[in-house]
Amino acid sequence: MARVESFDLDHNKVQAPYVRVAGVEQDAKGSTVQKIDMRFLQPNQEAFPTSAVHTLEHLLATYLREHLEGVIDVSPMGCRTGFYCIKWDESSPEEIATALEKTLQDVMDTEVIPAVTTKECGNYRDHSLFAAQEFVREVLEKGISRDPFERVLGENLE
Ligand SMILES: [Zn+2]
Repeated sequence: MARVESFDLDHNKVQAPYVRVAGVEQDAKGSTVQKIDMRFLQPNQEAFPTSAVHTLEHLLATYLREHLEGVIDVSPMGCRTGFYCIKWDESSPEEIATALEKTLQDVMDTEVIPAVTTKECGNYRDHSLFAAQEFVREVLEKGISRDPFERVLGENLE
């Protein structure tokens, strides 16, 4: 069986919310791709309702690119506790967490969900900006740890 990095992570030991570099890959030409675990909720204790995780997917896709260079994709985890981000080149956990904090501030400030017509979205009825913002408010209050196993918060957190 193929080895999957995230299956080796002890989900009982992590302390959400956190960001974690889940992998770095390089091709023969030297191009670097980084995979990031952005864990918003504590595994096996909490989970987003589908409307909140779906709305957050739309908002992160829009705003994370404004704060973090080289983002290729941001996708929700099937367990609905967070998102994976795939990006070009390597960023430090501090850079990633700072960018995510700015992104989540944008989420709190928005009054619209981008791309929610039937043409743009595959399940346009399943959205909740209210729910997304309630969860994000809690994430920002707890702070985003730069380490998955112990709480290491940024210094510039208001
Ligand atoms: Zn959608």
